[in-house]
Amino acid sequence: MLVLMNVQATPAQVANVIKHVRERGFEPIELPGADRLAIGVLGSNPGSIRDAICDLPGVVDAIPVSKPYKQVTREWHPEPTVVDVSGVNVGDGSFVVIAGPCAVESREQVLATARDVADAGATMFRGGAFKPRSSPYSFRGLGLDGLRHLAEAREVTGLPVVTEVLTPADVELVSEFADMLQVGTRNAQNFALLEAVGGARRPVLLKRGLSNTIEEWLLAAEYVVAHGNPNVVLCERGIRTFEAATRNTLDLSAVPVVKSLSHLPVIVDPSHATGHRPLVPPMARAALAAGADGLMIEVHPDPENALSDGAQSLTPAAFAELMGSLRRLAVALDRQVATAPSPMRAATPG
Ligand code: PEP
Ligand code: MN
Repeated sequence: MLVLMNVQATPAQVANVIKHVRERGFEPIELPGADRLAIGVLGSNPGSIRDAICDLPGVVDAIPVSKPYKQVTREWHPEPTVVDVSGVNVGDGSFVVIAGPCAVESREQVLATARDVADAGATMFRGGAFKPRSSPYSFRGLGLDGLRHLAEAREVTGLPVVTEVLTPADVELVSEFADMLQVGTRNAQNFALLEAVGGARRPVLLKRGLSNTIEEWLLAAEYVVAHGNPNVVLCERGIRTFEAATRNTLDLSAVPVVKSLSHLPVIVDPSHATGHRPLVPPMARAALAAGADGLMIEVHPDPENALSDGAQSLTPAAFAELMGSLRRLAVALDRQVATAPSPMRAATPG
């Protein structure tokens, strides 16, 4: 439920509403708006205290929030959320491009790729140090060494780094090295992990679960927000369907649907969605045209010999070409590809 305060409500009246909400066993959250303050009321059946709250001085109305994902719905927060990732603003209207290899394979590979994508104009760098793999015998990442290489790549290029965290126990460690924590598709409904990243001090990139409906995906985001972390960026990365021509089916319509339902930013990962290098640039451009807040693209200096996801990884040259076409398309759409923060600002995650 949202309690709308009068435009002229005094701080004492706001404090009084908050006290009453708490005394009745609900959780109040102050939500400053463009012209008036609202107080969100969380808990089971807040409608039961509606009449009592409406009688308090300074209260104009109390309206139910119809969606089950209370805090990530636009009903709760009509303005778009802008997530600050160590100086990169995701969701401010600009188009953020996160690029890098599927996995951190070696220091040399990571530093070379980071330099290449930075030169091409990427806004952030990606790379997996802890890899979720379908087979236990596949390469599963360099772990702590991988995190160290990513941190060095940030120092060299200035690009903030996003990397996946697989378990609640690793959240603290990954937060020490990364600017943003990725929750992958296989963990999108791992509620213990969602709660753990909800308690983390880093923004979260939440991939859509392999077979998640949009409602399930938004409820997963709600777990993170409800546990204290409002800085969530959603990532559409394709879902499982009967179609076998592509690795997954990119649900581009999810972009405008999510934008209408939620205030959270949403980006698109055409690499995992399609699984095939030639399909990545056209779907990346389609994501920009569909109104996404950005992209996540896999890039590898030698895709034929990549330890994971080589078939969907762009070469640095193909990535640079894609960036050029995105910049040209952005002009036609009255948008801009976001630039990276300066190396000095990004050298230490804030
Ligand atoms: C990845 O980004 O490398 C990854 C494993 O993604 P997803 O969880 O979407 O498969
Ligand atoms: Mn991958």
